[in-house]
Amino acid sequence: MDESFEDLLQANRRFADTFALSGFDGLAHAGVAMVTCMDSRIEPLGMIGLKVGDAKIMRTPGGRVTEDALVGCILGVHLLKVERILIVPHTRCAMAAGTDAEIAEAVRNATGAEIGDLRLGASPDQDTNLLADVSLLRNHPLIGDRATVGGFKYDVDTGLLTRLI
Ligand SMILES: [Zn+2]
Repeated sequence: MDESFEDLLQANRRFADTFALSGFDGLAHAGVAMVTCMDSRIEPLGMIGLKVGDAKIMRTPGGRVTEDALVGCILGVHLLKVERILIVPHTRCAMAAGTDAEIAEAVRNATGAEIGDLRLGASPDQDTNLLADVSLLRNHPLIGDRATVGGFKYDVDTGLLTRLI
C-alpha cells in the first residue's frame, strides 16, 4: 500500500492514546440532528454548543436534505432519540453560487473534466431550497410531528446561526 494517508494515521494513533469514548452508545443524547453543508468552515457541534455523543450530523453539498440525509433523519427520529432537526445551509456556499450548469463549467475550467449528467443540486435560490427541505421533513409521514424541524442559515464569517423558518 502507498503512504498517502500515513500522516493522518499517525495523528489517529495520538488521538487514540487519550480516547475516552469506548463503549459509548450511538444515540443523539441532546436529541438533536443537523443536516448541513460539507463546507470545511463549518463545525456543526461547536456552533450549537454540543459535543461528541449529543447529535446526529448529516453533511451534504449545500446542506440539502438529499435522499441519504432523509434516511438519516428518519432513523434518527425512530431509533436514535432525535427530537429536533436543524437544516443549516450557510452564507458563501459554493452550491448556491450558481446553477448546475455553471458549476459544471467551473469544473471544466478547473480540471477539464466533463461531469455529464451528474445532478449536483446547485441553486442560487437557497431560501427556496431551505423551505422545500423543511417542508419535506415536516410533511414526511415518518417524521411529521415526531420531531420539530427548523430551517436556519449559518454565517461563515461571524459564526452566527439564524433561524429562518
Ligand atoms: Zn456549502
